[in-house]
Amino acid sequence: MNDYMIRATAAGGQIRAFAAATRGVAEEARLAHNTSPVATAALGRLMTGAAMMGAMMKGEEDLLTVKIQGDGPIRGLTVTADSHGNVKGFAFEPQVMLPPNKEGKLDVGGALGLGVLSVIKDIGLKEPYIGQTILVTGEIAEDLTYYFATSEQTPSSVALGVLMNKDNTVRQAGGFLIQLMPGATEEIILGLEKKLEQITAITMLLDEGKTPELILEMILGEYGLEINETMPVRFFCSCSREKIEKILISVGRAELQKMIDEGETIEVNCHFCNKHYPVTVAELSGLLRNV
Ligand code: ZN
Repeated sequence: MNDYMIRATAAGGQIRAFAAATRGVAEEARLAHNTSPVATAALGRLMTGAAMMGAMMKGEEDLLTVKIQGDGPIRGLTVTADSHGNVKGFAFEPQVMLPPNKEGKLDVGGALGLGVLSVIKDIGLKEPYIGQTILVTGEIAEDLTYYFATSEQTPSSVALGVLMNKDNTVRQAGGFLIQLMPGATEEIILGLEKKLEQITAITMLLDEGKTPELILEMILGEYGLEINETMPVRFFCSCSREKIEKILISVGRAELQKMIDEGETIEVNCHFCNKHYPVTVAELSGLLRNV
């Protein structure tokens, strides 16, 4: 899967921009979690946004988590991204089905409902940075735009889209994120606003075969677009047997003993990638010795 994102600047650094093609990421998530179309769209959009937001972080070990909790039937989403284009995530209720919205599109806003968007950045400080805003539409791109404006005081334009095939596999996914840096002139701001109004839906652009480079060129070409970096994006979970064992050890002696006494192989599932880790009674006994 040839997913990737680009990082760019324009107008001599007054604008910074990201664009991503993430069809493979959305499809991998769909396969891992067996998501319904509306859940695939919600998760695909949020993972695409998070991948680009993750690329804003500087540190090797930095980790971004974006959580949405809503009162809609999907109840919420959790996504994480690092600074290298590795993303993963899950929907709380992945099988939710909803009729299309008024525009005939997948009703992501209706699936999420009213709620809260939280951005947690673990950038190696004692306490992680946490920013929280309400959901404005639940359509995710607008919610992230609102988050950037209110929580980070950065005027931004976020577009995210996932288009499905008739057989419910992912046909296209991607997005862009454009931000005005402090000191951007009025001329640049107004010009960019106009330009963004003329841009067609991101899923249409992707379906026409437009690459992230072409999409940013369409928006920022006249502002001296400079592409600074290209990096792969992938659905990647770092869970492992060792990590699962550590978690089991951390539940404590009494809990472990209880599982052993039940005499059956237990199965630990990773929320993020839905991988199953069976742990036998003999293995549990081995872990108990390490508590
Ligand atoms: Zn995992």
